[in-house]
Amino acid sequence: MAKSVRMRVWAAAVALFVVLSLLGSALYMALEADHDCPGDGCLICARIAVCLRNFTTLGVTLTVTAAGLTALRHVQSGDPVRTAPRAATPVTLRVKLSN
Ligand SMILES: [Zn+2]
Repeated sequence: MAKSVRMRVWAAAVALFVVLSLLGSALYMALEADHDCPGDGCLICARIAVCLRNFTTLGVTLTVTAAGLTALRHVQSGDPVRTAPRAATPVTLRVKLSN
């Protein structure tokens, strides 16, 4: 199997895992949102806390990964990083004001 195909398969597997994990967490929280809570030591509340931590962790991880991949793509392509356009001033336009 070619290296790029193998990488795509791994990327698809990781993406599928992330999506299934998020969907599972969301489904569990939706199903157990109004459970009969005995209070301290509730296992369902502990699992809901784990699900919320999954959302937070995966959200931060996806954001950092997307930012890193975007930066890597810019570095590999050699494109300059886009900045705000320069304002047109007499100096930048090289206008001589010596009338
Ligand atoms: Zn509870």
